Amino acid sequence: MHPSLVDTHTQIIPADTGRFPATLLEAMSFYGDPDVATRTLAAARWADAPECLHCHSRDRHFYISTRRIWKCRSCRKQFSPKAGTIFEDSPIGLDRWLIAIWMVANSEQRVSTYRLHRLLGVTQTTTTFMLRRIRLAIQARSSASERSAAIAAARAR
Ligand SMILES: [Zn+2]
Repeated sequence: MHPSLVDTHTQIIPADTGRFPATLLEAMSFYGDPDVATRTLAAARWADAPECLHCHSRDRHFYISTRRIWKCRSCRKQFSPKAGTIFEDSPIGLDRWLIAIWMVANSEQRVSTYRLHRLLGVTQTTTTFMLRRIRLAIQARSSASERSAAIAAARAR
């Protein structure tokens, strides 16, 4: 899992909007566009400029909108912001992933697989898989920040 996404994934600000969705309706309209979702993930991961995952070039690449990936002119390879994240190797669109993450981060009660299944129009097997990955990522993030807090506290002594 990519560490910067573990830090930011529960507060990913949708591309072009400049703010975090306040309601489920906003989350669905902001993240619901697959291109916005891809650019949102790219911005969360790379800030200003996408970085080629193969040769680390930051300026010699272009976006292939039909496939929602970048192609590098330096090494001629393709790369996606999904690589190395919880979204990798998943046929589920990023739009659905980001909406599911928003739900988990903004629900007072535990989000059920059934509720997510009705909301996203995918099977409950799929939403079970998604929720498991999202919760593991959140746990990994909290234990990483607990660890760094413990290290900082140990150094302060
Ligand atoms: Zn490259």
